[in-house]
Amino acid sequence: MLKKVQEHLPRQLLPAPDAITAFCHLIANWSRSELVLALTVDQQGNRAQIITTTSTKFPNLEIIAPWRDLVQGTVIDVLPFLKLPSIFFCLLSKVERIVYIPCGEPEKWCQGLLLVNPVEEPLQQLAEQKGYIAALYRQLLIHHRQSQNSFIFEAQFQDIFDTVPLGLVLIKGDSSTAMVNSYAAQWLQLPPGSHPVQIVAEHMKQGWERCDNCDELVNLFQGLAANANFSAQGECRRGEKTFLIDTHPVRGDSRLGRVWIFSDISDMRQREQALLALAWLDPLTGAFNRRFLLSRVEAYESQAATGEALLTVMIFDIDHFKRINDTYGHDQGDVVLRTLAARAKQVLESCQDGILVRWGGEEFVLLFFVAYEDQAKAVAEELCSVVRSQPVELTDQYSLSVTISLGVTLFRGGEQVLSDSIPRADQALYEAKHGGRDRWVWA
Ligand code: GH3
Ligand code: MG
Ligand code: MG
Repeated sequence: MLKKVQEHLPRQLLPAPDAITAFCHLIANWSRSELVLALTVDQQGNRAQIITTTSTKFPNLEIIAPWRDLVQGTVIDVLPFLKLPSIFFCLLSKVERIVYIPCGEPEKWCQGLLLVNPVEEPLQQLAEQKGYIAALYRQLLIHHRQSQNSFIFEAQFQDIFDTVPLGLVLIKGDSSTAMVNSYAAQWLQLPPGSHPVQIVAEHMKQGWERCDNCDELVNLFQGLAANANFSAQGECRRGEKTFLIDTHPVRGDSRLGRVWIFSDISDMRQREQALLALAWLDPLTGAFNRRFLLSRVEAYESQAATGEALLTVMIFDIDHFKRINDTYGHDQGDVVLRTLAARAKQVLESCQDGILVRWGGEEFVLLFFVAYEDQAKAVAEELCSVVRSQPVELTDQYSLSVTISLGVTLFRGGEQVLSDSIPRADQALYEAKHGGRDRWVWA
């Protein structure tokens, strides 16, 4: 198996192993070798990696495996080149003698120094010092590995920092500078890279100011800024876009730094909205469904309990709707339902916190706040008159006059909307029907 050593040399990635190179030069001078190589050989002995050498002028160095055969069992050995059981082939001027000094643990023979063409006399001396050489080399190697690992880790971190689809701002422990990745750079309208913290803070503030919910964000993040340990999460909205902003302290060099993370959660929020619409809206009319009312009714009751505004509870029912269905068909009945729901929503637009709920087949409940009783009565009158005065255009271009009957009441302190106010409004609706329809009754 022929392997080119160079293939296994990610040299451009690694920092120069200066101490090991110096050590190789020392051994080369001592042994008067033409070349000394610091090697790592894999556990199978098939692949060798050159950590460093005393000369880089050997571009065609190749090793024919298994390397294991060359070094196994030897502590220090002088091997005439031509008698090797496997062949170490080297396009140097001339290889007469190779000495391998294994420097790993006895069973871990894969670290070592390879001396090419050493002079014979110093070798005996070298053999006597082999324990020291191995120990020293191992220490240098440990140091080399550590710096290599931290170099690789830094390169990997930088890579992730630059490519992750998140905005990252990393503030150093001494609060002097902040690193901004490309994604955050767009958000902050700054070039990516390292900037003084004050500049980043200024851009961050301008970033909040570009958001629809600026005041909320300034309150959330600036209020906490005095505390070095603060962690906070907030959402920032810009039109269709929603960003999640997270900040928390991080430790680096045992000093407290800080990270800011910006993630675009617009898609997730839009999906949530779509799901909520499915869960809470009546598909035919677009009004809220009963489930929605049940989820909100307590909030309405609590708001009403503050006494700041009066909660109006209204229920209306389409008059003789069965007849409409029977005469024009169910589909045209649906058109009437949709049209009346749209009209009711329009009327509600001028009301505080108004919601329209499809309560049953052709019955709708409305909740909204008013400042005084007459305002609630005015809305009831407006709704009846809007329906009465604007015939529903059916799909076949036929316009149909429709009316509704309506019961309206105010929520009273101590009662519940579902068990008290709606039944009272419903009783008023019943009276409106019996009073001749197309009217509202106050309860
Ligand atoms: P009243 O004036 O007393 O309210 O009479 P009404 O005919 O409106 O009352 P009734 O309760 O007898 O009829 C209601 C009808 O509403 C019966 C039902 O088939 C119809 N309905 C319920 N849901 C739907 C719907 O989603 N679409 C259509 N087209 N009709 C519906
Ligand atoms: Mg009806
Ligand atoms: Mg009905």
